[in-house]
Amino acid sequence: MTVADIATHPGSWIGGAPVTTGGPRHQVINPATGAPVAEIALAQPGDVDAAVASARGALPEWSGATPAERSAVLGKLAKLADEATSVLVAEEVSQTGKPVRLATEFDVPGSIDNIDFFAGAARHLEGKASAEYSGDHTSSIRREAVGVVATITPWNYPLQMAVWKVLPALAAGCSVVIKPAEITPLTTLTLARLASEAGLPDGVFNVVTGSGADVGAALAGHADVDMVTFTGSTPVGRRVMLAAAAHGHRTQLELGGKAPFVVFDDADLDAAIQGAVAGALINTGQDCTAATRAIVARDLYDDFVAGVGEVMSKIVLGDPEDPDTDLGPLITLAHRAKVAGMVERAPSEGGRIVTGGVAPEGPGSFYRPTLIADVSEQSEVWRDEIFGPVLVARAFTDDDDAIRQANDTKYGLAASAWTRDVYRAQRASREIHAGCVWINDHIPIISEMPHGGFGASGFGKDMSQYSLEEYLSIKHVMSDITGAVDKDWHRTIFTKR
Ligand code: NAP
Repeated sequence: MTVADIATHPGSWIGGAPVTTGGPRHQVINPATGAPVAEIALAQPGDVDAAVASARGALPEWSGATPAERSAVLGKLAKLADEATSVLVAEEVSQTGKPVRLATEFDVPGSIDNIDFFAGAARHLEGKASAEYSGDHTSSIRREAVGVVATITPWNYPLQMAVWKVLPALAAGCSVVIKPAEITPLTTLTLARLASEAGLPDGVFNVVTGSGADVGAALAGHADVDMVTFTGSTPVGRRVMLAAAAHGHRTQLELGGKAPFVVFDDADLDAAIQGAVAGALINTGQDCTAATRAIVARDLYDDFVAGVGEVMSKIVLGDPEDPDTDLGPLITLAHRAKVAGMVERAPSEGGRIVTGGVAPEGPGSFYRPTLIADVSEQSEVWRDEIFGPVLVARAFTDDDDAIRQANDTKYGLAASAWTRDVYRAQRASREIHAGCVWINDHIPIISEMPHGGFGASGFGKDMSQYSLEEYLSIKHVMSDITGAVDKDWHRTIFTKR
């Protein structure tokens, strides 16, 4: 899409068709250049009502389809998304500024694989065996779609986050209304169009665009949805949960992170250095699982800091469209100012800026990869999510201290431990409080395995069979097999008959 298409691009997708909603027009900006790449009409809270009504109306047909029928549509969607790879990559790169290499090798194929996974998972409903557990009844388990799902997603991985929320819901037989981040709506709209082309019944998958404060709040607090799922920051997630709680709706929250990266003294230092830079800089550090707190054995600490600083200094910032670019810009100038402010305050709390801490001249919201060493445990950069290309490092004295520092955070999304000692690896995976613990790596995800955090990182799972469960209600059906008027348990009610 180019600026030339601006006038015709619809803002939302409701009832299986593009809808030009009545809200203000909004320009989607390329963060690498500051130039507009598209303009859409935003939705208004009234459009949320229409989208929810559309999802409600479509629910009986979709939830009543057989698992094989749902699987066939989702399988076709995976195929169409694969064929549309170049469009999805172009939209993702232009609206987020992420390097084309990342979008081509991670965001888009990962999303397609996830769609494909849920096409298969739709046919694998799990439960306990039917049996006569009471002796007088046959008990069986039904898995039923939760209903209409409202979902709200962030800007950092717009396509992947939409897929992670929408696909398990569709596989379970739910209908969906999604609100992508206002600044990155393009790939979510394309996903909805492809789903329609794949044969998804009209109204099952609706998109409303707009800001969180009005459209997001209207969706999260809507009385006629059955579940609210959210990926984004911890404070907003809690607001969303409160809005959903007013109606007692089920929620699932994927929130912020501050992942520890623990390097024990027997680690392969080169692997740890390279892994730390890759883990900290992926998606310009705008990744909830990014390596953010390096906790390094005292004996390795100086070499680790020097090595990370050297690798970071060679990272190539530039045009996201260029396959040789390593690092794209931050999402907006405002976000860059927030990241830069945190880095600038770090020295006053004892931090030493080893490399980076610089916003290059020129257009776009670029920021150099930054390593801050020797920070105090109370410093802002150690405790709070920066969400930028910034790694913060501290030394630890012994294994107990390493685990303590790793767990000294309100977050619990992801962590890694670097060691060649199997017992240390087992201890770290057991004792670090996080939804995912990598051993000798940091970042990889896979459709078959769950993603989701503990504590201030939220609850519930994305990806895998576990996320399908989020969108299913469990029903127990208990059928009397005696045919008796006088049931055995009636003894508790009738003393004499
Ligand atoms: P955010 O500010 O919390 O926004 C997330 C979404 O919520 C956006 O669509 C936003 O809309 C919407 N929103 C804002 N206020 C709202 C309200 N009052 N009611 C309903 N919706 C509202 O987060 P972000 O800056 O987009 O994303 C970065 C955050 O997401 C980081 O904290 C990161 O760690 C987290 N994240 C977590 C995961 C995970 O899996 N745990 C994955 C990715 C990102 P607008 O932006 O359009 O206003």
